Amino acid sequence: MMLGSEMLQGLRPHTRPRSGQAFVTLVTNADYAMGALALARSIARTGTRADIVVLHTAGVRESDLAPLAALDCRLIEVEHLPLSDGFNERHAGGNLHAAAPFTKGRKPSFHTPLDNFCKLRLWQLIEYDTCVFIDADALVLRNVDRLFDYPEFSAAPNVYESLADFHRLNSGVFVAKPSLATFQDMLRQLDRPDVFWRRTDQTFLEAFFPDWHGLPIFMNMLQYVWFSMPALWNWNSVSILHYQYEKPWEENHPKAEQLRPLIDLWHSFHTGQDVPDIATLANPRAAA
Ligand code: UDP
Ligand code: MN
Repeated sequence: MMLGSEMLQGLRPHTRPRSGQAFVTLVTNADYAMGALALARSIARTGTRADIVVLHTAGVRESDLAPLAALDCRLIEVEHLPLSDGFNERHAGGNLHAAAPFTKGRKPSFHTPLDNFCKLRLWQLIEYDTCVFIDADALVLRNVDRLFDYPEFSAAPNVYESLADFHRLNSGVFVAKPSLATFQDMLRQLDRPDVFWRRTDQTFLEAFFPDWHGLPIFMNMLQYVWFSMPALWNWNSVSILHYQYEKPWEENHPKAEQLRPLIDLWHSFHTGQDVPDIATLANPRAAA
């Protein structure tokens, strides 16, 4: 491989970068590959010149990655982080759900909490000046290239229920500067005896960057805002729509009826057919 440094271990790029900036997402199974396809289509439609990087683990089938390669995404195979057995056990799905249950929504069965930590490999992508990470369960609805001008570490608050949510960040969208020094620091702080990150990478990033910069909520609009805080919703402003908890491709999930217009929108991006003009969509009050 062209990158010799020991710190770049665990990364296998399939192709070279074509820009100094990248949108980066993560895919560890077929479900999130489907999500990433809709996301990549949505980013491509914005006319950005930044790379679209898909970090994927070795287990993802070639046939699930092929549509992403066809869209010109830059695929980079990543290994899981070198974490201790104790860390992996504490953060394994069953144990994490028992220690810190999700009470506000349902995580799909294909969501493996430990996989989330692979996001931190973004800091190894030193061929880029700036990266904007976006979860594979999100859509970019208008050009957001100005995010590349934001400082590290920028993220939107985790708002979907109440004002108290403004204290926490959501790690589904963030702006970061790749740096091996930062990556090394992160590995040191991440895996310490008995440490437990109850919301995985999200809790870790909040602790690692206590002075995080706030992005507007429109840069990471969480789907529950649609029914919990409808006054916040405005299609003229929503730039990145994030389907936290239940995923729009899950058949008949518990919130499907409430979220129908958002689910339909996701399917239009996934198929690439009949994508509506976002500005013409009805806001939730009017839609309800
Ligand atoms: N992810 C993945 N496989 C997993 C879990 C997570 O590829 O098993 C990636 C994917 O990009 C996903 C992100 O990590 O969008 C965070 O997980 P998710 O979006 O399910 O969490 P939520 O937004 O519901 O908190
Ligand atoms: Mn997500």
